[in-house]
Amino acid sequence: SDRPDWLRIRADFPVLTRQVHGKPLVYLDSANTSQKPQSVIRAVDEFYREHNANVSRAVHALGSEATEAYEGARSKLAAFLNVPADELVLTSGTTFGINLVAYSWALPRLRAGDVILLTRMEHHANIVPWQLVAERTGAKIRVVEITPSGELDLDDLRAKLTGEVKLLAFTHVSNVLGTVNPVAQICREARRRGVVTLVDGSQAMPHRAVDIPSLGCDFYALTGHKMLGPTGTGALWARRQHLREMPPFIGGGEMIKEVRFEKTVFNDPPHKFEAGTPNIAGVVGLGAAVDYLRGIGMDQIEAREQALLEIATRELSAIEGLRIFGSAPGKAAVISFLVEGAHAHDLATLLDLEGIAVRSGHHCAHPLMAHFGVPATCRASLAFYNTHVEIEQLAAAIGKVRKLLA
Ligand code: PMP
Repeated sequence: SDRPDWLRIRADFPVLTRQVHGKPLVYLDSANTSQKPQSVIRAVDEFYREHNANVSRAVHALGSEATEAYEGARSKLAAFLNVPADELVLTSGTTFGINLVAYSWALPRLRAGDVILLTRMEHHANIVPWQLVAERTGAKIRVVEITPSGELDLDDLRAKLTGEVKLLAFTHVSNVLGTVNPVAQICREARRRGVVTLVDGSQAMPHRAVDIPSLGCDFYALTGHKMLGPTGTGALWARRQHLREMPPFIGGGEMIKEVRFEKTVFNDPPHKFEAGTPNIAGVVGLGAAVDYLRGIGMDQIEAREQALLEIATRELSAIEGLRIFGSAPGKAAVISFLVEGAHAHDLATLLDLEGIAVRSGHHCAHPLMAHFGVPATCRASLAFYNTHVEIEQLAAAIGKVRKLLA
């Protein structure tokens, strides 16, 4: 059959053979950053060994090889997202992409009385840039609330999509709750009211096929390191019209056609937004990550992770005193939880001693923690390279640790 051999796939990830505190590593923190397959590590290594040069500036052989590799990776990512390559600005990650929209699109446009609509489940990266814009423009921030299962309250969203709203910025998939938001539906409603939409795709890209045209958003920001790519890579897709109208955010080399002291002529998008020497090797690695994901198939990956999530949810729900945050139907493979009587950090520390890596903390989502009235949670986030056995180990370890902490 053509079903993937998941154990063979797992063997592509060198770090997963590690021991931690004398125990085999059980890595359940992929929503924080994913592990990297051999092919991505090799692509970065090979770039430095065989092709290293700066992009766009040199006519020599290595210079054109580096440029070709860099632009080739942009094309791969663009094809993966089903968008034209010249609409894709390469960035250092989601944070940079959102800030680019904040400074180049929002700052020159927004006025006192305008509203930026966010949601309760946003990562700080999709909150703080808007606060900075609001402070400078006099715009206000409003927030769409969530339901008890951790879904966006769509009635609240409709009620808050009023005439003053200029931008709706929201996450595709929640990094804490796993909720997958109905992006296409939300963007349709926003567009009908003339509201521009920005989608934070950080947590969607690693887990599901993302076809940007069918989402109908104006901006889509993503980060490379959560989707098997190197850290310090990412992209912002924007509608061509926005890219044409937006002034550059960061100035410098690479983003110009001609510089005179009186006036500079900027390069065409996307280069207009890519000042300075980029993370060339990283982007090449991101291209390899896209190849790797495509090789397995995002639908296979999604199905695999859903099967793992189902087991994990069942196993963890059976533990006495364990509370799971977020139960939206069709959620991504992220389980935030707390165990009665145990602090999240203590729990994570004791799990680490068992070789199990989970994240504890606020997950850069203070407003969401405040909503639940907790300072922190533990989060086990799964990837297709995890196994059923690892989930059983997690459940057994929580059971053991719970008795220690109770
Ligand atoms: N948004 C979400 C939903 C995230 O999970 C993260 C990473 N934790 C970010 C934004 C920020 O991504 P980066 O730090 O790579 O810019």
